[in-house]
Amino acid sequence: KRLPIADPIRTSEILHHYHLQAKKSLGQNFLTNPAVINSIVTTAEIAPGDQVIEVGPGIGALTEQILAQGAKLLAYEIDGKLIEVLTNELPADAQIKILHQDVLQTDFNKDFEGYFDPTKPVKVVANLPYYITTPIIFRFLESGIPLESLTVMMQKEVADRIEAQPGKKDFGPLSIAVQLDMESHIALNVPPSSFTPAPKVDSAVVQIVRKAQPIRLPNKDLFNKIVKVSFAQRRKTIYNNLKHLVGQELQTIDDLHELLRAAAIAENRRAEQLSIADYLKLTELVDAK
Ligand code: SAM
Repeated sequence: KRLPIADPIRTSEILHHYHLQAKKSLGQNFLTNPAVINSIVTTAEIAPGDQVIEVGPGIGALTEQILAQGAKLLAYEIDGKLIEVLTNELPADAQIKILHQDVLQTDFNKDFEGYFDPTKPVKVVANLPYYITTPIIFRFLESGIPLESLTVMMQKEVADRIEAQPGKKDFGPLSIAVQLDMESHIALNVPPSSFTPAPKVDSAVVQIVRKAQPIRLPNKDLFNKIVKVSFAQRRKTIYNNLKHLVGQELQTIDDLHELLRAAAIAENRRAEQLSIADYLKLTELVDAK
């Protein structure tokens, strides 16, 4: 029986055989700890037939174990050199569609055609490329696909931002975007030694699951804009940041005073001290204007 791809011996054989060197610019840190991979797959609760998306399969360490659960897998890999490796090293009968694509550019609905049932839920399972962790998470949250959960390895610092509650310095647009529709927890902390090459930062596997009752949000674009403007300059007060809405969503500076009064938000508060409920209230009031 062959060693799993994640076994350090098998990984180094593959890297050697295909003359590969991990590309730093593409965030290539390959997992070489089978126990961590088991734990990702267990956390994701993959059942046979589940529709799973993997971002950046690399040489297939995690891919192999997702497939072993009987998942139907759609994988995006930007590095063309790795496509050949994946094709050769993964089982020939695997239920996998590998796309040589940038996950930030791709059209999910088109990629699903003739492969995924668009009415059934999708799980994302990945060891993410860290240079684009935040944009990838935003992309999936805003994609409109029937996203059930994300089970993703990321740098610890971003995991902390996802989890952060109002009043904490890490609380920001990412925390709000995730917490609006999803619940999350850190499933596992992972040291640099679990990867080849070892990243310079600590990592964590975060489990993000859609809430049973997501918050109803009639004007999501406006909500996103208000959050973005509020956090534009963190050291400024909410009043000073929201001034940028005057001449746009708000007509006069008096409208801004009135808005904050109606929402019961003191003008000298800062964006990270407001709750998601406060941002919802602001959106509702601006929208009603
Ligand atoms: N899944 C493998 C593992 O766990 O060993 C590799 C993970 S490595 C941290 C990140 C992977 O994402 C690399 O294979 C890299 O080439 C790929 N990648 C980087 N940017 C990407 C992008 N924009 N779209 C798709 N894949 C990307």
